[in-house]
Amino acid sequence: MTQHDRSLLTSEWYVVPISVDCAGCGAQTRSAGIIVGPSSFTNAADFDLESDVFEKPWEPLEAFGLVEKLGGRTENVERFVVKRYHSAFAMQEDGLKAVCEHCSDSLPGALIRVAAMDSFVRLGQRRLLKNEGLMFFSSNVVLTQFHGGTWIQESGIEGGGYSLLLLCDAEDASGGEGVVELWHSVERNDYAVVIKGHGDREMLRRGFSDDLEQVVADVTGLGLVLTQLRLAQDESPYCELARNIFLSALSRAGYQQDE
Ligand SMILES: [Zn+2]
Repeated sequence: MTQHDRSLLTSEWYVVPISVDCAGCGAQTRSAGIIVGPSSFTNAADFDLESDVFEKPWEPLEAFGLVEKLGGRTENVERFVVKRYHSAFAMQEDGLKAVCEHCSDSLPGALIRVAAMDSFVRLGQRRLLKNEGLMFFSSNVVLTQFHGGTWIQESGIEGGGYSLLLLCDAEDASGGEGVVELWHSVERNDYAVVIKGHGDREMLRRGFSDDLEQVVADVTGLGLVLTQLRLAQDESPYCELARNIFLSALSRAGYQQDE
């Protein structure tokens, strides 16, 4: 088990039901745990989404992990988690906590760890896990990683039949510069995005099973401004088509285009 404070960026997470005895009121309570998936990324604790995007590369988690604490910058966590699962979670001073449905006392990690892992494995075996799918960022998390062959690492994008379609110059809110690359696999009908900082250093690499809307939502979620869009191959109809689809997805997401 690995536990230390980090930042987390994920759009793969599962809410699993648990039932434990609350130490506060003594009653048996239903609550829930949050498990993040192998496609999640971690970075140093207190990663600053405004200025660190092109400075500090993300590490893929490559394992499942139970969220023991979610704190720091968490606006979107409150919106996605607490409002939907309000009897199971609450925001407290040091972040998001699983709570007792009767007395609202927080349920410590040591109490929910085994129950959440059991529930996750049981639901997984019956194929009842549903990825919540929304991307969230937290600048201060503690995760307990599960080991033991739960995931086989996917090969790199270049080796996986992906072609580079578009390159977008991008800026973060503090003026840091980098490039967002858009890749596509015809075989998988799947897009992937690679974000690079100075000297082509890779900061973040994500595969998507969804469509371009998801790519756009994630770029928006990172607060990046796209300054220039280029085709990976001039005069390729495939790249031009991708550009048109990408531009219309951007405009539906509220991006405005300067001519
Ligand atoms: Zn209680």
